[in-house]
Amino acid sequence: MPELPDLEYVASELSRALVGQAIVSARTGDPTVLRMMLPMPFAEALVGRTVRAVERRGHFLRFALDGDRVAIVNAMLVGKYRLLGPEEASRSKDPVAMGFALGFADGSELRYLDDKRMGKVYVAAASDESSIPVFGNLGIDVISPGFDRARFGDLVRRRRDQVRMFMMDKSALASIGNAYADEILFAAGIHPKTMVRKLTASDVDRLYTAIRDVLAGAIAEIARRREPIEVKVRDFLAVRGRDGKPCPRCGTTIRAVRVGDGDACFCPTCQPATRNLFVDWRRLPGPAAATPTVTDAGPPRADPAGAPAAAKVTAAVGSPPPPAGAGEPRARARSRSPGRVRRAPT
Ligand SMILES: [Zn+2]
Repeated sequence: MPELPDLEYVASELSRALVGQAIVSARTGDPTVLRMMLPMPFAEALVGRTVRAVERRGHFLRFALDGDRVAIVNAMLVGKYRLLGPEEASRSKDPVAMGFALGFADGSELRYLDDKRMGKVYVAAASDESSIPVFGNLGIDVISPGFDRARFGDLVRRRRDQVRMFMMDKSALASIGNAYADEILFAAGIHPKTMVRKLTASDVDRLYTAIRDVLAGAIAEIARRREPIEVKVRDFLAVRGRDGKPCPRCGTTIRAVRVGDGDACFCPTCQPATRNLFVDWRRLPGPAAATPTVTDAGPPRADPAGAPAAAKVTAAVGSPPPPAGAGEPRARARSRSPGRVRRAPT
């Protein structure tokens, strides 16, 4: 899905192009994505209104219109925006994937495209927007000034789940998706399956810093590229979408592992396991060195048991066979067919 850094760029480009402009036409393509919260058709709800703001909130894009009206879009997995100039808008046919199109007074057109039709487009009275699912219950915005170390620490203390699942809980942190969860955990040197309650103060410090730094870096990089808004710029990522390839920091093969509903990409050396996960990823064959000699590549981490992380992971290899249904062996099987698990960054 477009994630926070992508949406920061889209929101800023659309603000520049659309704020102050009146909507002169509105039409829908596949209506599956529409969630009308007003008792009138889509076009009637929007035509004649002027765009007052286009902003990102969490992983949503919010179009504020005059007269207490909003259009709020959650693009989910593959939704994207396209802005067409007057000439292109007049001769371009509606694509099959079109969710909606808004025409503006200057002849330009904004299209929301969604191949999978998984996105959601809410049209509502601004005064009702807090009842929009997920949107109305977003946690603290992770690039807002209010997201400080103390606030993050408060959130961490309440959690009993795995760190990657915590980071992707939109009601706690707004909003981190699959790609940047992987990048942040890599930057912090934390294994995605680490239990939040096992994080040391130093781990939490690194995680907080990584959230701020990774997102700020990505926002700056995407802005620097100045691609059209429909282009997802992800080629600078360190681990996401790179399973089977060497870690840019230490050369160990990056792995994909199942965490909750999604796949996490991580480096087994830079992000050592702190739990007995049954598999020593560093001893599995891969295109890069199976047993990396670089052991000090990752950031230093405190180990609550006092044992070196490498020793603990090695010990796990000699453990009894895993119970049926354990999560990690599934990941192990997947790792042997990298062609099957590799996928485009999401
Ligand atoms: Zn590494």
